[in-house]
Amino acid sequence: TGRGMTLSDIQARWARVTPDAEFLVDGGGERRTYARSGDRITRLANVLAAEGVEPGDRVAVLGLNAADLLESYLAVLRAGAICVPVNFRLVAKEVAYALDDSGAVVAIADTATSDLLRDALPDAPGVRRTITIGGDLEQVLAAADPTYRELAVPDDATAFIMYTSGTTGAPKGAMLTHRNLYLHAFSSTMHLGGPGGPGVWLSGTPLFHIAGVAGFLPSLFAGGTTVIPPSTGFDPDAMLATLERERVSACFFVPAQWAALCARVGARERDLSALRKASWGAAPASDALLRTMIETFPDAEIVTSFGQTECSPVTTTLRGEDAVRKIGSVGTPMINVEVRVVDDDMRDVASGEVGEIVYRGPLVMSGYWNKPEQTAEAFRGGWFHSGDLVRQDPDGYYYVVDRKKDMIISGGENIYCAEVENVLAGHPQVADVALIGVADPTWGETPLAVIVPKDPDDPPTAASIDDHCREHLARYKRPRRIALVDVLPRNATGKVQKTVLRDRDLEGSLASEVVA
Ligand code: ATP
Repeated sequence: TGRGMTLSDIQARWARVTPDAEFLVDGGGERRTYARSGDRITRLANVLAAEGVEPGDRVAVLGLNAADLLESYLAVLRAGAICVPVNFRLVAKEVAYALDDSGAVVAIADTATSDLLRDALPDAPGVRRTITIGGDLEQVLAAADPTYRELAVPDDATAFIMYTSGTTGAPKGAMLTHRNLYLHAFSSTMHLGGPGGPGVWLSGTPLFHIAGVAGFLPSLFAGGTTVIPPSTGFDPDAMLATLERERVSACFFVPAQWAALCARVGARERDLSALRKASWGAAPASDALLRTMIETFPDAEIVTSFGQTECSPVTTTLRGEDAVRKIGSVGTPMINVEVRVVDDDMRDVASGEVGEIVYRGPLVMSGYWNKPEQTAEAFRGGWFHSGDLVRQDPDGYYYVVDRKKDMIISGGENIYCAEVENVLAGHPQVADVALIGVADPTWGETPLAVIVPKDPDDPPTAASIDDHCREHLARYKRPRRIALVDVLPRNATGKVQKTVLRDRDLEGSLASEVVA
């Protein structure tokens, strides 16, 4: 393999070329130029090196969204080490798992997460030093060696270990290499026209998520500005104000965030003339929401991204010109990734048929850290198995039909949740919906629709839901039961936590026993 500079050295190059250009703006009011951040990143990298952190060592970073947090990631890379972002919503045992499993030798936290880190440390004996953003970081930086050194790393060296949320067993650390992420930035730029020069990027997700880790790379590569909003308490009005004030040119939000943004009465009155790309992904969006997005932000190109952490992460995109014509599709594959749609025996399914989407090529992770068996299982047949069921239309556009583990099998028939949820989301009284399977003695499983009504005082009746479904869905797909809830449990990226819903006692919220 070749050797190249680390991803973080792109930042250093801009720091020399455009030192006064704005690099990071955060919700805490920090504004940092490329030169200033570059100096802080270099100093922290040198502190890590002085601590004995060597290329390939792991450094965990745990904290709320902030310029300091992103600089910490880049400092770890500049030291040649592997960055392990840790979800700040985890409990101490889970944090300890990430620290211990990755074998982290240094852990960086912030004042909001330092107690959590402290509680995790007894179960992570390998961590020999901690640094606290907002605590000792400034003294540490002031005393550090400011000399910049560009490291040559093998391009298949791991840059990040990203832990999956672990809905299917112990969390697995996806190893993403420098090359994976270079090519992600490259293919995103090729497909989406990039930030179109040094634009202003904003991702509404927490920085520990892949959309936070990889999302800003195209902007960094172009020497642009990254705006880092707060990672807790999503406030749609404040977010719209930020998009306007910072003249954001490209942004990413998950569907639940877009729904909240579109629902703001003032959304249309804002001056968002700088916004060229409005992208969404990470969880399914209904056609109803996509139409609302197109109406609410008529001057922005609505861009769909689909993929997963293990693929660095984007594998297919749908560009704005296809947003209406191919509504509901996740588009076509990026360059740098090979795609097949296969059955359980790895045979390609015919166009129009449902199969699992599998991937190969330089966007795909090198494997799961320390998990050779799970890696072999995920790469069976030489292709990475996504667990996503899709179908392709005659023009080669992909449509996500469900995650394999969420699919409902009723009387031997497959029910793809996304299809039914999409139909239900089109009911005028439905604000949000998730479909789950419940055990049934006759059918094995039957679909239950968990619905958040638009107006809690005027919820849809079971009969009106069923009438609506009759128009669009075969009998076996129609929900047998409806439960009404105030809100759906969602994870950090807006995915409905179906395991939580399945475990919940919904009896009390059943609007009707049997519909169909
Ligand atoms: P897990 O529950 O497997 O741990 P995760 O949240 O850790 O999931 P991510 O990599 O964040 O994993 O999510 C990837 C998954 O998100 C994809 O496999 C797909 O099911 C879903 N997804 C991503 N983008 C889209 C999209 N545009 N439309 C529909 N689903 C999407």
